[in-house]
Amino acid sequence: MSVLEELKPQFHSAFPRLASGKYVHVFLVRHSQSFPVFQTDGVLNTARTQAGLDSKDDKSRQSINRLVMFKRKQVTPERLVGRQLLRSLGLTSAVEGEVNFCEYNSQKSCKKCPDCIIYGFGVGDKGAERSKVYSDSAFSLSPYETSHRSFTFNAPSENGTMSEKGELRSSINDLDHVLPEVMFPSVETLRDPTFEGFIYVLGNLIRTRRYGGQESRTGTMMNHIVGIAFCDGEVFSNLYFTQALYDALNAKGDICVTIEDFRHEAARVAKNCLKQEPVRSITIFGAELDALLEEVTGIYQDEVKQRLIMTTLYQQTQIYSESYGAIFPEKKKEEKKKAQQGSSI
Ligand SMILES: [Zn+2]
Repeated sequence: MSVLEELKPQFHSAFPRLASGKYVHVFLVRHSQSFPVFQTDGVLNTARTQAGLDSKDDKSRQSINRLVMFKRKQVTPERLVGRQLLRSLGLTSAVEGEVNFCEYNSQKSCKKCPDCIIYGFGVGDKGAERSKVYSDSAFSLSPYETSHRSFTFNAPSENGTMSEKGELRSSINDLDHVLPEVMFPSVETLRDPTFEGFIYVLGNLIRTRRYGGQESRTGTMMNHIVGIAFCDGEVFSNLYFTQALYDALNAKGDICVTIEDFRHEAARVAKNCLKQEPVRSITIFGAELDALLEEVTGIYQDEVKQRLIMTTLYQQTQIYSESYGAIFPEKKKEEKKKAQQGSSI
């Protein structure tokens, strides 16, 4: 039996209205492949944190500046990748007026597609849906000082020179970039998923390659998934995971290891941290995880399988939306109206 088949009993068959204690935690390391920019107002976001968790170790207890990847910088690109897939399968539409039209993050979001229901929406008085994907700021493993560089960009005009109509263009940008191979250990959590919802969110994680800033041609990152755990509660934070990993590498005497060693170490640390959590868990690491990821990749390489899963997921989120979602109050009103009409006859 495949790993996914074996896991199926762990999922809901429909999205429940209330949180019912099924959490799927995905442990991953976000790994920069070029020069992403995660900044607000021209500077990269940083935070001063303790390097590790061991107060008896000199290196671990020192404070260091870390790069911060805010929650929105992680989840937005993943949502967009998922939304693109839904459109490519014809499940949602970008054409206003069509029944399955959905506009991201606006009053015109459809409130029923997998993106709206799983990642949530909030549109003023038109109702809201809480996200079922929990994420938080991620912190660089290495200090800010060795993880960034400021580049000056000359932005030439369309004719390729720095002058236009005889005047010198002044569009010179100084941008603070994250360097390649900076690691951001993270935990992304999915609450109460169906099997199809899990495939959707996991797919978005492994298929998203560009993060950060307004830059479209830089910012490639790779998400290395190192473990998955099915738990009945929430677990440790991104910062805790990062600090525990810092200690593990510090104990080995080297913070710079190959990505393969690093993945191995991250998986070991995630497993150890989980052992200390007051939750029940079913964990997937190592060869079993590799097999699962291969199966998920296989689904995304096969249009028939992919279409079947995404169509089923769309039906699930639509049913959820009609039963409990933001469409609910409107539907309720309609029903009330019908009932009143009925009683007055
Ligand atoms: Zn939608």
